[in-house]
Amino acid sequence: MSYNINDKGYYGEFGGAYIPEMLYPNIEELRQNYLKITAEASFQEEFHELLKDYVGRPSPLYFAKRLSEKYNTKIYLKREDLNHTGAHKVNNTIGQILLAQRLGKTRIIAETGAGQHGVATATVCALMGIECVVYMGEIDIARQAPNVARMKMLGAKVVPALSGSCTLKDATNEAMRDWINNPVDTHYIVGSVVGPHPYPDMVARFQAVVSEEIKKQLIEKEGTENPDYLIACVGGGSNAAGTYYHYLDNTDVNIIAVEAAGKGIHTGESAATSVLGKEGIIHGSKTLLMQTGDGQITEPYSISAGLDYPGVGPMHANLYKTGRAEFISITDDEAMTAGLELSQLEGIIPAIETSHALAVFEHKTFKPDNIIVLNLSGRGDKDLQNYIDYFKL
Ligand SMILES: *Cc1c(COP(=O)(O)O)cnc(C)c1O
Repeated sequence: MSYNINDKGYYGEFGGAYIPEMLYPNIEELRQNYLKITAEASFQEEFHELLKDYVGRPSPLYFAKRLSEKYNTKIYLKREDLNHTGAHKVNNTIGQILLAQRLGKTRIIAETGAGQHGVATATVCALMGIECVVYMGEIDIARQAPNVARMKMLGAKVVPALSGSCTLKDATNEAMRDWINNPVDTHYIVGSVVGPHPYPDMVARFQAVVSEEIKKQLIEKEGTENPDYLIACVGGGSNAAGTYYHYLDNTDVNIIAVEAAGKGIHTGESAATSVLGKEGIIHGSKTLLMQTGDGQITEPYSISAGLDYPGVGPMHANLYKTGRAEFISITDDEAMTAGLELSQLEGIIPAIETSHALAVFEHKTFKPDNIIVLNLSGRGDKDLQNYIDYFKL
């Protein structure tokens, strides 16, 4: 049995492509071409050259000495925060823009909630000189002004989504509508391991460079490519998918997935999808999502904008359902405390998303000789004001 995707586009019972008829040609074009194109030597060469010289890969695997001493175990941090643009998201946008070019696309669209994926998309569009349109809920535009400014600086057009709750799901609807109207010249860059097949698999493969590097780096440092535990935070699940990818079927390696419990799992202000979610369809994929009794999507809440998503990708739904991964929910308060702790123990200010993963060490006791690799998915510059307000610094 494999925990990776099968040839029908499913992880166990999750995944697939539940899309309106009018999107079928776009998705089918991608499905028929993504494996072939990404396997070409010229694609791999350009992808890895950009990851090296533009993104700054490989990202270091850093042994966090003082953090390890505090929790009496061996903690390595995979430093995705050191990537150009400050997080793991750029690994995926580089892969997708190279694919779009080879499909003859001349225009890129994307949706964004907090703006991080919009910035990563606008960045690679500037790099390649391709037109970029980013859909963003009107409320998010107001909340995330610095990222809106970045996208504009990079030459992207930011289009407000004015319907519904004026947030991420409405921006996604607008982007879908655009794609239906522009199927020939436009590629839609999805930002996480979500959406209809082949998106979850395609994004996981682009992020898989993370676990490919972890294997090599851990051999150098510990003489084994296998840690005892992998830890990553899960919004849609892309940094986690990249961390787990080459270890999915190696059950000697334990997997921990960390979700945002917001103000508490049962407070009604949470994004703990594994606990609160039920099977359903969101963004074209069968997965676990937070919904009301009659199937309306529940508004999620987390202090971190990147974890504030009502579903998880189908890979993670399957990891939960099969018990392959242990899911832990972390509250806003626990995450903020862990973020401050890493800042002061290691001199690294993490993104608040990442702080959720770091809070696992207060939740779970590891053995002194356990080797743990945690994906430090992003840096905290974007969250500084949030930390300052929270701690009254
Ligand atoms: C967007 C983001 C996340 C959440 O997205 P995933 O697809 O679950 O990885 C986590 N960390 C950081 C720093 C992010 O920017």
